[in-house]
Amino acid sequence: MREIARALIAWYREARRTLPWREEPTPYRVWVAEIMAQQTRLETVQPYFERFVVRFPDVAALATASLDDVLACWSGLGYYRRARMLHRAARLVVERHGGALPAEPAALRALPGVGRYTAGAIASVAFGLPEPVLDGNVKRVLARLLDLEQPVDSAGGERRLWTEAEALVRAGGDPSALNQGLMELGALVCTPSSPACPACPVREACRALPAGTVSRRPVRSARRAPRVQPTVALVVGRGDGAVLLRRNPPEGLFGGLWSVPLRASGPSARQAAVALGRSLGQGVVVQGGVAGRVEHALTHRLLRVAVYRAGAPGARAPRGCRWVKPPAGLGRLGVAELTWKILEVAMGAKKEGDRRRRSPSRSG
Ligand code: SF4
Repeated sequence: MREIARALIAWYREARRTLPWREEPTPYRVWVAEIMAQQTRLETVQPYFERFVVRFPDVAALATASLDDVLACWSGLGYYRRARMLHRAARLVVERHGGALPAEPAALRALPGVGRYTAGAIASVAFGLPEPVLDGNVKRVLARLLDLEQPVDSAGGERRLWTEAEALVRAGGDPSALNQGLMELGALVCTPSSPACPACPVREACRALPAGTVSRRPVRSARRAPRVQPTVALVVGRGDGAVLLRRNPPEGLFGGLWSVPLRASGPSARQAAVALGRSLGQGVVVQGGVAGRVEHALTHRLLRVAVYRAGAPGARAPRGCRWVKPPAGLGRLGVAELTWKILEVAMGAKKEGDRRRRSPSRSG
């Protein structure tokens, strides 16, 4: 363990990528970066992170901001639940810890959105404590180093990996470099396909390499296919180009975000679209058939969305809704990613329809 730890730390100090939170690893910046990096690649995270910490430079600024502002700044990064929990957690850090993130993993884990991995990352990277981390990259590296036959997503497999990660971080002299070295090795060298084993700093200790099982590690349990949810979306347009957006309730699908009105549909998508129009208020009338289709994957569900267009007679927005002119108006709100996709499809269909109406038919 000590040899592996030493080799990893030395390699990390040489090979690490320059990232804004690594250059200035304050607890707040490490926390924001770790929450953003859950389910998102670091390359994607970087510009969002830079914008976010300029807009909300510390816990106090985040805690006093409105949820709307936070969601608008997060817009485009997806998985908005993370932003809502970050905002809630910032308020708790102010209430419970006077605005300074605690170092103890137990206190960190008491904050919304902070699980064992994130607590370990903040404790080790920002505070230098020997706390383990276990994300997808670390799981892959450790499963190969150990030539682990147990599925890494099983309870037993996870338990074993946490134990190994803990032993490793306690064996090394620099918990921050060790943990980041493990993650960086998984991202740059011990990659899912075609790992660069000849360039690996811990190849001497790797059990999967001599066993010829690298491509079969890590083992995963068979995945269940996501549940398909037929859905209808209504793009309600006003004469001046504005569309109707509705604020979703705080908990549930796209909680707290603005989106075009959506509804789960049964066998008849059109009936569901008409019912959705009626629920918005008098005079919202569905126009024509399906304008397009969009698919949107959530963690355990696949939304298969039939997009309809509709018109509204009055200028007044129904309760909980507002008129927004895309694209500029959308950029100022926290808008669900799916809404951008739906509007793209609906606008494309409208342009195509207008073009057909303008060009005379060939048959005269
Ligand atoms: Fe991964 Fe290859 Fe290094 Fe083993 S030798 S840890 S498989 S990169």
